[in-house]
Amino acid sequence: MNNMVLHPDIILKRSSVAGFGLFASKDIPIGTVIWKYGNVRVYTKEQYDKFSERYKAILRHFCYEGSNETLVYCTDNSKYFNHSCDPNTMSIDTEKDITIKDVFAGEELTYDYGYWYLKWNDAFMCHCGSDDCRRYIKREPQESPTIRNLETMVKKAWENSTNVIQPLLTPDS
Ligand SMILES: [Zn+2]
Repeated sequence: MNNMVLHPDIILKRSSVAGFGLFASKDIPIGTVIWKYGNVRVYTKEQYDKFSERYKAILRHFCYEGSNETLVYCTDNSKYFNHSCDPNTMSIDTEKDITIKDVFAGEELTYDYGYWYLKWNDAFMCHCGSDDCRRYIKREPQESPTIRNLETMVKKAWENSTNVIQPLLTPDS
């Protein structure tokens, strides 16, 4: 397994959604692994409690929840995935995120943070502009229609994973 964490055709740019975002520099087809677990710092709740208020705020903005209620902070550009209520990427498991739609060059890659990220994080107002925008984004119950729908999309997208080039899954030569 190689050490690449972010798909090589993803670049950091200013986003119209919020601050910076991650964009496709080339077309990335549905079912492609675009993020693989790596370049992270993992903190326990006890460690978090001892940090400064300023660093806590950064962590609540960027972290997601790992196993055993840890906070996982991506130290590379992976932390710049923006939320959308109509996302084009989601997690297939705790170690990999994939595209759940065909993503075209120039498009921003987005993730639905209601899926599992928000137990630790501050809830926030969404301006994604999608027809189904939920406006106020907080952790969604796992049995909600939103989550069910995303899980169906992820399963379907993964069926295409063997038909596409997977730079993050190919071994180093
Ligand atoms: Zn939205």
